[in-house]
Amino acid sequence: MHRRVVGWCRSAQTAFAEDDPSLRGMICTSACLDEDSVKITFYGTRGSIPVPEGESVRIGGNTPCVLITFESGRIAILDAGTGIRKLGKDLMEEGHEQYENILVGLSHTHWDHIQGFPFFRPAYDPRRHFTIAICGKGGHGEKLENLFGLQMQHEFFPTPLEKMGAKMSFWAPDVTRYTTPAGITVVASKQNHPGGSYGYRIEDHGKILVYCTDVEHADGIDPRVVALARDADLLIHDAQYTPEELKGKRGWGHSSWEQAVEVAQRAGAKRLALFHHDPEHTDSFLLKLETECRKRFPGAFLAREGTHIQL
Ligand SMILES: [Zn+2]
Ligand SMILES: [Zn+2]
Repeated sequence: MHRRVVGWCRSAQTAFAEDDPSLRGMICTSACLDEDSVKITFYGTRGSIPVPEGESVRIGGNTPCVLITFESGRIAILDAGTGIRKLGKDLMEEGHEQYENILVGLSHTHWDHIQGFPFFRPAYDPRRHFTIAICGKGGHGEKLENLFGLQMQHEFFPTPLEKMGAKMSFWAPDVTRYTTPAGITVVASKQNHPGGSYGYRIEDHGKILVYCTDVEHADGIDPRVVALARDADLLIHDAQYTPEELKGKRGWGHSSWEQAVEVAQRAGAKRLALFHHDPEHTDSFLLKLETECRKRFPGAFLAREGTHIQL
């Protein structure tokens, strides 16, 4: 029963793709999704802090959260920013029946990647089980649980983590590659970011998703990121800054859209979703940036909240 596509398309977003023929086939409406395919839904694409303001909501105001629907219909979640609130609502309203285990893979635990979790309704459902993981970090499952518990201490939030209701496992395996029983391969790679972050390469039935957010290319392009993104069907890459802005933001842990394009080109990625939009970048600014970007790499587009991508 969990084969149904979870997700949503705001009418404005659907019109968006229809308005611009060049984006057709890259950004989908629910109606054009093939059931037996790997699908991505963007629930949060903004970096650093939510921006629920008029000039930002068209591209998206919520912080990182991405839903993956595998070919089998099973789902996994990447990051638990404020976008996870709407994802949880959709799962509950649609009666999604994957109770036994849903993986919530985290790039890292910076605030904008975990702050939506206390508002994730399925985590209050005792029938459900979640595994919250940072792969590659090594041996710190307990530490990860403490960090999640910390943001829900009574000084910050009325309900403690242990009272949420769902069964939760915290996992930080010291492995950078593993294959699930369903044959999905996950490769994790450490990234340059204050405090460290992890990029993921996820392969299912020959389709490749690569998720590299909160990554800074210290000197030139980091070859580890290019290797992780090799031949990706979709590369989701940090593109917080313009090349000019990046010059004044060294050490802040992010990339420019130009670097995202360079990674996609070097890696031979088919499509590139520009991700982790700067809170100061308005919709009109981002759309101009997207046009520039697409001149260099036609497979590039802005990750827009509420849209689906089929791999
Ligand atoms: Zn971030
Ligand atoms: Zn970060």
